[in-house]
Amino acid sequence: MAQSERPKQHTVYTKKGNTNPSNILPQKLDLQSSLQFECHPGVSCFTACCHTIKIILTPYDILMLRRRLGLSADEFITTYTEPTYLEKTDMPGLQLKLMGEKQACPFVTPEGCTVYTDRPSACRYYPVGMADFHEGGIEDEEAEEKFFFLVKEPHCKGHEEPKHWTIGEWRADQGVDVRDEMNKEWLRLVMRRKSFGQQASLSDAAKRMFFMATTDLDTFRSFIFESSFLDTYEVDQETLDRIKTDDVALMLFSFSYLANSLFGAPGLHIREGKIKEKVAQLQQQQNEALKRAEQEYEELRSERDRMLAERGQSPENPKKS
Ligand code: SF4
Ligand code: SF4
Repeated sequence: MAQSERPKQHTVYTKKGNTNPSNILPQKLDLQSSLQFECHPGVSCFTACCHTIKIILTPYDILMLRRRLGLSADEFITTYTEPTYLEKTDMPGLQLKLMGEKQACPFVTPEGCTVYTDRPSACRYYPVGMADFHEGGIEDEEAEEKFFFLVKEPHCKGHEEPKHWTIGEWRADQGVDVRDEMNKEWLRLVMRRKSFGQQASLSDAAKRMFFMATTDLDTFRSFIFESSFLDTYEVDQETLDRIKTDDVALMLFSFSYLANSLFGAPGLHIREGKIKEKVAQLQQQQNEALKRAEQEYEELRSERDRMLAERGQSPENPKKS
C-alpha cells in the first residue's frame, strides 16, 4: 500500500487497530507457506487502509520517521502523534495522529505513502500478522513459538492479485525482519508489563520514564549525560562514546536501562559507592524506625504506669492495690 499493520495483542502483529478477528484466517503459517497478494497503485482500494486506522509507533519507527522528516523528537511528537497505551497495559506510547474528516494517516496522499521507505513497522506487516507465544514465560527465548497468520479484509483487493510469494519472501520484501530485530527488546518490555498484570503497580514516575526513553531520544540523551545518571550507573567508555552520537545505539541502550530499572533485569551496573550509599541510607532509616518504636513503647509504658499509679495500683502487680 500504503500498507500498514502494527504490533498487536500479546505478541501478535497485524495491521489496523480495528481489525475484526473474523478477518483473521484460522490457519497457522510459517515462513515457507505461500501467500497470494500484491499491493500497488493499480489496485482499486489503493490507500483505503491508510484511513481510520490505529498505528502504534515503535521507538525505531519514531526515530526513522523523525530522521526522514528532519524533525526533533519534540516537533515530531507534537505534529504527528497522539498518546496511547500499549497492548492493553498501562505503558504509555504513541500512535499516528489521524487527520481530517476521513481520519487519514498524516502521510497518505492519493499517490500513496509519502514516507514509504520509512513507513512504520505496523505498515509493513499487512496482511501477514505474526503471533509470538512465550510458553516458558517472557524470559525464556527458547520456548518462544512464532507463527504467522493472514488477515483478509473485504475492502483489501490485494488478495485478488495474481502474485505469489512465500511468507518469508514477503517479509524480506517489506523489510520486516530488520524492524523485528530493532523492536524486539521494546516489545519484550511491554510483554513483561503485560505478564505482570495489574497486581504489580508501576509508579507514575516509572511510566513517565518509560514514555520519555521510548519516544524522545533527545531528552533521554540529556538524561544520561546531564543528570546524575552516570554517578549512579557504571557505563563503559566505549558504550558512552557510541550512545553520545548514535541514535540507534542509544535506543537499544534505553531498552536495557528500562528493563533493568523497571523490571530488575540484569545488564546495567550500579556503582559500588552508590550501593554502599543506598545500604547506609536504608540502615539509617531502619535505625530511625527502631528508635521511634522504642520511644513510642516508652511513652505508652509511662502512660500505663501513670494511670495505674492514679488508681493506687502497682505496675508489677496491677490487680493488687
Ligand atoms: S505511514 Fe504510509 S503506509 Fe502507513 S498508514 Fe500512513 S500512508 Fe499508509
Ligand atoms: S490492496 Fe490492501 S494493502 Fe493495498 S492499498 Fe488496498 S487495502 Fe491497502
